[in-house]
Order: sequence, then structure tokens, then C-alpha cells
Amino acid sequence: MISKLPNVGTTIFSVMSALAAEYKAINLSQGFPDYDCSNELKAMVNEAMQQGHNQYAVMPGLMSLRSAIASKISNLYQQTVNPEMEITITPGGTYAIFTAIATCIHPGDEVIIFEPAYDSYIPNVLVNGGKPVLIPLSFPDYRINWTEVRSKITPRTKMIMLNTPHNPTGSILQENDLQELEKLVTEFNLLVLSDEVYEHLIFDGAQHHSILRYPAIYRNSFVTFSFGKVFHNTGWKMGYCVAPEHLMKEYRKVHQYLCFSVNTPMQYGLAKFLETPAHYLELPAFYQQKRDYFLQLMKDTRFTPLSSQGSYFQLMKYDRISDEGDRAFATRLTKEFGVAAIPVSAFYQDGKDDHVIRFCFAKKQETLELAAARLAQI
Ligand code: GLN
Repeated sequence: MISKLPNVGTTIFSVMSALAAEYKAINLSQGFPDYDCSNELKAMVNEAMQQGHNQYAVMPGLMSLRSAIASKISNLYQQTVNPEMEITITPGGTYAIFTAIATCIHPGDEVIIFEPAYDSYIPNVLVNGGKPVLIPLSFPDYRINWTEVRSKITPRTKMIMLNTPHNPTGSILQENDLQELEKLVTEFNLLVLSDEVYEHLIFDGAQHHSILRYPAIYRNSFVTFSFGKVFHNTGWKMGYCVAPEHLMKEYRKVHQYLCFSVNTPMQYGLAKFLETPAHYLELPAFYQQKRDYFLQLMKDTRFTPLSSQGSYFQLMKYDRISDEGDRAFATRLTKEFGVAAIPVSAFYQDGKDDHVIRFCFAKKQETLELAAARLAQI
């Protein structure tokens, strides 16, 4: 058999975006902004190109960009990471996650994954011969039951994957979650892969509990980030991984033969852009305003919001509208009402369906208004 992923189909993000395009629906499904990134940032990239920075960057990424990231980490999380040894620039967050798994998951290793789970996690583990061990988050507040996590640990457990702020639910980890995690990591010497691509998209004054704040966890961790998600340029496919030296050494062995290095002018541009902390410090307020505006508009509909504390996603129940399954409902919403969303059952291996769909509110005000007006018709 050739296929290593016989049960995997086309990612829901491609499916729903294609359906949205086919029916000319407003696309609140796949997570990407419909506004442009900063002109200042584009000018910085352009300048780097004009100056002739158009050949391979060094394998781990430009030192100026890695240093700028280390300064941001020190500003936000009061931790010192060594940009020389602990940061690698990657082509996007998804790549950063895959590479961490490819670095350390051997055939038969068990990886704890919480569901609903971002749709690349399980295939990433499977393609590397690992065994996903799935644990459901509670419904409807999407929290981790740490007693259950402990009960699922076996001698083969190699890694726990976390995602905060969480896609698709918008839940965030609290301090007590990190304390529980720290106990397990220390007791069982587990690796952690923490997907923190929405680190700056956090609301209501909440603190982002990055693994980088917790040295006893960090020493066993890969922590992955995205520039596209936070600086509104998902098409640039720029991200990075932070890990302690002993893990990053292994990570780079894989990275150097996967893509070798990431495009150079964007690295110059981002390094310069990060020199101004306001560029990331303003993001929580920018996205909270979008979430609040979307919630306000959706009051005129029969959808019921769940709690979104971070990310650029808002889950909605539709039990006052229909008792259809979420895939059928999301498809009908796109075709008949002109608004595309993601059915949350796509984030469960067994298709668990709580009749909840995910909307992306990283959209212009007028896009959100138009979408809400259409949703009020149903
Ligand atoms: N992370 C984005 C989302 O959740 C999608 C990225 C992708 O399409 N691969 O919608």
C-alpha cells in the first residue's frame, strides 16, 4: 500500500473555501483576514528586495529576526531564550508543528491530542508512525480534564500537544492547567508541543500562558508561532519554533532537509517590523474589537455564541435554527444563505457532532455586517 494516510480526505479548510468560492458566499470558514497587512511592513520587505537580499538565508533564519523574536519573548514572557540556539524560522506555523513531530516521534510513540483538534495534528502524528491518543475537551467550555490525561499516560506516551488560544474553540489555558501540565511533564518526562500561533489574539485582559513562561515545562518543549496569523499575511507562510538547545539541535537536523531555509526578504521585513513593540502590543485590542462587533451583530440572529477568549474564531450553536448535522448545516448555510463556516465535527476523529459551527471574525467591519445580515434571515 502506498498511502500512509488511507483515511484522510481533503482538509475541511480547502473544502469550505472552495464551496464558498463556488457559491460566491462570504467566507467566514478558513481562518484568514480579508484585510491587508501593514503597508509599513510591505515597504520593509520591498526595501530588502531592492537592496538585493534575495538569496538563501542561513538555515535557522536571519539572526536579526531571531534576535527580534527573543526580545519579544523577553518583553512578553520575561524569559531569556538564546536566539542562536533556541529559535528557528519556518515556512508557517503548520510546518513548524510538523517538523517538531517528525523530529522526535518514532513508530509506536503515543501522542496525547485534545479534541476538537486542529486538523493537521492527527495526520502529522500518523504519517510519522506515531499513535494519537485522543482526549475530548469538556463541552461546552472546552477545558482539559487532567485526571483523564493522567489515566491515559502509558510507558509509550512521548508527547502532549497543546494549543492556546485554541482553534477552533477560542478557549485558553489557565494557570492551573500549566501547573497540572508541569506535574505530568516532570513526573513522566514527557515532551510538549505547544501551538501558540494565536498568542497575541487574547481578550478581556486575559494573560497568554505561554509555555515559555514555565521553565520546567519549556525544557521539554517545542513552542510554535505564526507571523501570518498575527500580522495579517497568512499567504506569506512565515512562522517559527522555539525550543531548548538539546531539542532545537535535533529539530534543525530535520528542518535543514525539509525546506533548508525560509524566504529572505520577508525575514528582513519582519525583523524590522518587530523592532516596534506596538506592532504586537496593539493586537489584542484590535481583535477584541472584532470579536465584540461580531457578537453584537449576531444578536440579531438565532445563533447562540459559546465563549471565545482568544484566537480569531467564534463558535456558534444553531439548535434554535435546525437539528441538522453540522456538515449538512454548514453546507446549506453556504449554498442557500451565502455565508461559509466550518463544521466543528471536522475537528473530531469520530466526527462527534455537537451542532456547533466556527466563524472567523478576522474580517472587515462591512464583511461582518453583510454576513450577519444574511445570517439574520435564517
Ligand atoms: N488555520 C486556519 C484555520 O483554522 C487554516 C489554515 C489552513 O487552511 N491550512 O482556519
